[in-house]
Amino acid sequence: MKIYFDNNATTPVDPQVKEAMDPFLSGLFANPSSPYESGGQVRRLVEQARCHMAQLLGTRSEREIIFTSGGTESNNTAIRSALKLFPHKKKIITSAVEHSSVKNLCEHLSKEGYHVVSVGVSKAGSFNWNQLIESLGDDVAIVSVMWANNETGVLFPIQDIGRELKRRNILFHVDAVQAIGKIPIHLNKMEIDYLSFSAHKIHGPKGIGALYVREGSPFQAFILGGRQERDRRAGTENVAGIIGLAKALELSQDFTPSPPPLKGREDSAKVRGGSAILLGGKGEGKINQISILRNKLEEELVARVDVSFINGKAEARIPNTTNITIPGIEAETFLIRLSQLGIEASSGSACLTGALEPSHVLMAMGHSRELASSSLRFSLSRLTTTEQIDYALEVVPKLVCELRKLNEVENFPPPLWGRTKVGG
Ligand code: PLP
Repeated sequence: MKIYFDNNATTPVDPQVKEAMDPFLSGLFANPSSPYESGGQVRRLVEQARCHMAQLLGTRSEREIIFTSGGTESNNTAIRSALKLFPHKKKIITSAVEHSSVKNLCEHLSKEGYHVVSVGVSKAGSFNWNQLIESLGDDVAIVSVMWANNETGVLFPIQDIGRELKRRNILFHVDAVQAIGKIPIHLNKMEIDYLSFSAHKIHGPKGIGALYVREGSPFQAFILGGRQERDRRAGTENVAGIIGLAKALELSQDFTPSPPPLKGREDSAKVRGGSAILLGGKGEGKINQISILRNKLEEELVARVDVSFINGKAEARIPNTTNITIPGIEAETFLIRLSQLGIEASSGSACLTGALEPSHVLMAMGHSRELASSSLRFSLSRLTTTEQIDYALEVVPKLVCELRKLNEVENFPPPLWGRTKVGG
C-alpha cells in the first residue's frame, strides 16, 4: 500500500493527459519548425494548445504564453529579463518565503551587486504589506513574489500588490506554480506582468511549463538560439509536454472554482479571508472535497497529537495543503518511518530535501530551528480519498508517540522547545 501526500512536490500524470500526449511520442514526432506537411501539422497542434491555455487562463492573447521547461526556468527568465532591460535599476524585491528557484537566484544576484529586499511574513504567514510599500522606489527593477506558498499553502494578496505596482509603474512577476489549478485565475483581470507555472504540479508531465508575459510588458529572452516561441525562448519545442500541459490545465478547471467578480479592494479582502476560493463555479464541489479532506486531516491530527499546531491556518490558503508542527519529533526520521508504513509526505520543499536545513519558510514565520525541523507537510490531490485520510489519522499519532518516547521526551512541552505563539 502506498498513500501519496506529497502533491506539492509533484503529481501523478492523469491518464487523460498521457493519452493526449501519446501520439506525439510516436507518429506525430515531426519538428514543428519543419516546412513539410507533418511539421506543419504538429505546429498547428502546438498553437491550438497555446490558444486553449490562453482561454483557460483568461489572457488577452495566446501570444502572451511562452513555453518553458517549467517553473524554475520561467522564474529565472522573468527576473533576468527585467534586470537586463533596466541595468540601472539595482533593486529586486521578493519575499522571505519564496521557492528556491527565486530565493537562490536572488542570493546569487545579490553577490553580483543587486540589492535584494526579502519582504517578511507574520507568524501566521501573511505578507508584510508595509515593508513592501517602504521598499518601493525608482530603483526597483522587478518585484517577484509567489501566489501560493509551496510549504504552507498560504496565499499572498497578488491582486492588491499588482494594483499598487501598476500605479507606480513597477514590473511584477508572480510565481504561480502552486496556485494554478487550485484557485481561480483570470489573468486579463490582474495587474501582473509575468507569471510562471508548471505542468507537473497539476497532473501533467515534468519538464514543461510556461511563462505568461503580458502584452506590452517588456521582455528579453533568457535562452538564445533558434527562433522558436517568437524569438522569446529558443530550443525545439517539447511538443508532447506542451500538449500534456494544455490537457492538464483543462482538467484542473474541473477542480478550480470560477473566479469571483473582481471589483474593488473588498474582493481581494475576500481572497485574503479565504472565501473567494469557495465561491461558485464548475469546480466548486470538487475543490470543496479536497479542502474538506485537508481540514479533516489537520483538525483531527491537532486534536490527537499533543501540542501540535498548523502553520498558516489563520490565512487564506490553497485547499490541498497542510503544514503541521509536532514538537518532539524530528521530521526527517519521522518521514522515513512514515514511508515504511505506506505514507509518503514531506518536510517542505522537495528541492530542499536532503539539505538537512530547517525550512526557511517556517523560520521566516518565527519558528526556532528546532520547531522548523519538527514540521511536516501533507499535500493532497483530487485522487486523495477519505480512507487514506483515516489511515493517516490512525498511523501518524501512533508514530508520534513512538518517536517522542525514543527521543525521551515524556513531559511536554518542555521549555527547551521554545514554543512561542507561532503558526496561527
Ligand atoms: N515555484 C514553486 C512555488 C514551486 O513549488 C516549484 C516546485 O516545487 C517551483 C517553483 C519549480 O517548478 P519546476 O519544478 O517546474 O521547476
